[in-house]
Amino acid sequence: FAAKDVLEPLVSGCHMLEGALPYEVCTRFPPEPSGYLHIGHAKAVLLNDYFARRYKGKLIVRFDDTNPSKEKEEYQQAIIEDLAKLEVVPDIVTYTSDYFEQIREYALDLVREGKAFMDDTPQEAMQAERMARQNSSRRDLSVEDNLKYFALMESGSAEGAKWCLRLKVNMQSVNGTMRDPVAFRQNTTPHHRSGDKYKAYPTYDLACPIVDSVEGVTHALRTTEYNDRDEQYAWVQNAVRLRRVRIHGFARMNFMYTELSKRKLTWFVENGHVTGWDDPRFPTVRGVVRRGINITALKRYILGQGASRNITLMQWSKFWAENKKEIDDKSPRFMAISEEGKATLTISNVPAPDANSFLTTDCHPKFPEMGKRLMKISNTVYTESSDLSGVQVGEEITLMRWGVVKITKADDATSMYEGEFAKDADPKLPKRKMTWLSESAQNIRAELFEFDNLINKEKLEEGEDFKDFINEDNLASMFAVCDANIKNLKKDDVIQIERRGLYRCDKVYGGKGEGKEIKLFMIPDGKTK
Ligand code: ATP
Ligand code: MG
Ligand code: MG
Repeated sequence: FAAKDVLEPLVSGCHMLEGALPYEVCTRFPPEPSGYLHIGHAKAVLLNDYFARRYKGKLIVRFDDTNPSKEKEEYQQAIIEDLAKLEVVPDIVTYTSDYFEQIREYALDLVREGKAFMDDTPQEAMQAERMARQNSSRRDLSVEDNLKYFALMESGSAEGAKWCLRLKVNMQSVNGTMRDPVAFRQNTTPHHRSGDKYKAYPTYDLACPIVDSVEGVTHALRTTEYNDRDEQYAWVQNAVRLRRVRIHGFARMNFMYTELSKRKLTWFVENGHVTGWDDPRFPTVRGVVRRGINITALKRYILGQGASRNITLMQWSKFWAENKKEIDDKSPRFMAISEEGKATLTISNVPAPDANSFLTTDCHPKFPEMGKRLMKISNTVYTESSDLSGVQVGEEITLMRWGVVKITKADDATSMYEGEFAKDADPKLPKRKMTWLSESAQNIRAELFEFDNLINKEKLEEGEDFKDFINEDNLASMFAVCDANIKNLKKDDVIQIERRGLYRCDKVYGGKGEGKEIKLFMIPDGKTK
């Protein structure tokens, strides 16, 4: 068969994978279960999934659970749920912890072959030696001593905690990551899967190349800041005589005004700056979904960046603009008037309004196939006072979808106005066109929320502490009177409130009364930062 027969069409910007053969490609996404997935992880998993599908190969999702101090079952569960949200279906789910015994055996082989040694040099001194390219005084311990100290480390004793295993690579290397990296260290915290079976764990640098090779990964995709580690990764596979795996670098994704690191995101959660990992201000998968991203748009946006190797600082505006393209035409229109800023317009000649007077209007003016809805009509309507303020007696205004009203009385001070429908007037002509809502016992109350970034600096420089750049002014909310039709919205439904924007329903209407309002989150329109 020819490769082109099985390849899906290219997503713009996505490169080929070097040396990739159809049906044989195996990629992997290796999240550490130490936090929830963020938008950067989404890029990593979507790219891996994309290449696996494109070459009709396999995608492994591997929980990289080698550090029990940071990892939790809760995070693991959340990652599985978030992958489902991203519509990623792994072919295989594995755990680095399933390979602990195997990795340990490889580590002991390295010791026996003189390719690794035990070291109790204190951390700071070890760092200094690395900088000075100076061998550790323990580098030439005998195999017997190395095995003895390895056992001591594994015993979990305080004495053993001082020892770690280091790969005997090259302290003279210009590449710092080759200077005898740490491969195994003690940790007596119980592991969320293996419990207290092990008291020492392999580092990522040792575990990753071994497990990638053992699991049959053909292409390991890594962000380009790992480039320096490629040499070390290959060294490990050679040293343990495992099949070499190709590395394919891709650009880390960063966003302006945003921190993307689990450690920092955890800080926001623990210090109450957000309501949880699914906070709509958060760059987590859950956060952006709650803020109103559509998964199709998210995928298109991320795959559109492709596997390019240039590190990019993304703008949220482009992300949300992509979203708007996807959802705008699918979102029914509603009207709502702000409670605080509402004006009252009394219209003298509404034909015989009663409790059952309605206007039939399209849910979406451009797409009549989306259906119709009824809008209550009466003599008294609410509009935004900002729309009517300054209006002159005699001026004609347009109530959208209803008609043209000629103002007969105007009082900006009380926001009370009077008028009458102008027969046969062209609703396109008046300068002032406004949304409106009839006074009605059926109107319901909504709370509208708008969110902003958590960080007030576009890009933090090296050495700057994100805690010094917290944007405290990141939330605005208001109450609005809404069309009774809004009552039927379900959680996650997306609507447009005319002349305000797109909103996602975060909490459904609970009835009359304080606290039972429907909660709607404004979806950024891509026009602001
Ligand atoms: P964080 O810095 O947020 O803790 P991490 O790299 O330590 O991220 P992992 O769970 O180890 O978290 O990451 C899983 C995969 O996601 C890795 O392959 C990593 O390269 C990738 N990844 C993490 N952050 C980004 C990002 N901002 N852009 C692209 N890929 C990322
Ligand atoms: Mg990591
Ligand atoms: Mg990281």
